[in-house]
Amino acid sequence: MGTRYDRMIEIQKEVSDIYGALSLMGWDQETYMPRKGAISRGRQLATLSGLAHTRFTSDEMGAAIEGAEAEALTADEQVNHREIAWSYDRSKRLPTELVKSLAETSSQAIQVWREARENDDFASFAPHVAKLIELQRQFADAIGYENEPYDALLEEYEPGTSTKEIADTFEALRTPLVALVRKIRESGVSPRTDFLNREYPIDRQRAFGVMVTEQMGFDYDAGRLDISPHPFCTNMGVQDVRMTTRYTTTLPTQSLFGIVHEAGHGLYEQGQVPAFEGLPRGKAVSLGIHESQSRMWENMIGRSRPFWRFFFPRFSDSFPDVMQDVSEDEFYTAINEVIPSPIRVEADEVTYNLHILLRFEIERALFTGDLPVEDLSAVWNEKMRDYLGIEPPNDRDGVLQDIHWSHGSFGYFPTYALGNLYAAQFFDSIKKEMPDLMDRIARGNLLPIREWLRDRIHCLGMTHRAKDLAIHVTGNPLNADYFVNYLNEKFGDLYGV
Ligand code: MG
Repeated sequence: MGTRYDRMIEIQKEVSDIYGALSLMGWDQETYMPRKGAISRGRQLATLSGLAHTRFTSDEMGAAIEGAEAEALTADEQVNHREIAWSYDRSKRLPTELVKSLAETSSQAIQVWREARENDDFASFAPHVAKLIELQRQFADAIGYENEPYDALLEEYEPGTSTKEIADTFEALRTPLVALVRKIRESGVSPRTDFLNREYPIDRQRAFGVMVTEQMGFDYDAGRLDISPHPFCTNMGVQDVRMTTRYTTTLPTQSLFGIVHEAGHGLYEQGQVPAFEGLPRGKAVSLGIHESQSRMWENMIGRSRPFWRFFFPRFSDSFPDVMQDVSEDEFYTAINEVIPSPIRVEADEVTYNLHILLRFEIERALFTGDLPVEDLSAVWNEKMRDYLGIEPPNDRDGVLQDIHWSHGSFGYFPTYALGNLYAAQFFDSIKKEMPDLMDRIARGNLLPIREWLRDRIHCLGMTHRAKDLAIHVTGNPLNADYFVNYLNEKFGDLYGV
């Protein structure tokens, strides 16, 4: 007879298989599904999500989790038990009615947001945001929290991390970042970028992106690269990891760095231990840690000088017509241009986190009640002026630019900045342990990086939560200094500041 633990794992695997099917259907919806398939797909997704939720929150699961507490579990089993119990407890606290109203309100809000953004009309979106905030506050009350409602929302994406901790970390980031942005602006340095707007054939862009990600160690027998309007990476299992990108004939670096970014996410998934598939022990820790993997590959490696020492000649060979008058140095400088822009997703490495700080501060104030929804647009623009020295031309490129709030996803944005901070701290450790790292990158030898990440981070699954993982991997708690030092060094050199 199996143990209670075994029963818990069986149910968890069934639930995980349903989620695998949901991922596949979601991936298909964004890539190949004909437009008219949306109605039946929406219904199918809702049905399967409901089944997964019912199975996961069943009394049988509750009894298995409780029974397993008394059993002797191995360290790996304890990880599974701890995380399944945590998720179960959270799910059980949520009234079904609230889950339903959140889904309905956000599906309506998404439609309204699309139109509001199109028409630059924040006023029509505002009541929907207000309603979502009210529902998310009920969500936080149902889940419970230690200090402020926002804690409960944050933990949806970054388990074990509190608002206060994030506020302290971000606080350490703001002053040096704002100062660096100002120095760069005042430097008067303006790199040549004209060649990035020439014509780059899409088939060759794709081939180049695939070549780079193969060099990174992404396994195309256990993954794919397709096209979607909004790039993402998803997976149906450890050995089925799907990335997407979008191409335009100009701006080849947009799709290239997009692919490298998604491959960073993909390697994290491919690096999980297959025996733990579908279980917390075989799952990514948090969104912040996930983003640390993508941002490290995209920026710290992909936008580094040694990386282009190796890849620039290959890039020139791939696009001989448009690259003949461009030097490696000009290329490297162009892909690292710092320009404060109103749009987060187009932001460079230096200004990116300021976009996140702004959103975090606003979200927190919305939930403490210090910021009424009707003041959102004004406060947004004021913070843009303070942090980046620019003001969005309209709400469309300001407060309305991101889809997250219409999903009701408050607490999600901070994970983007956490990703950059964790990345810098991990990268510092890799460099210390591999003193010749940058030389290896300059020879195109990227596999040691994948192996390092696999050994220290990927194959651990959820063994440690994000905060503890940082200590386990680097010996120190998360500290914004690593990121600030990285930026000051790199961009100080580039801009002579
Ligand atoms: Mg990402």
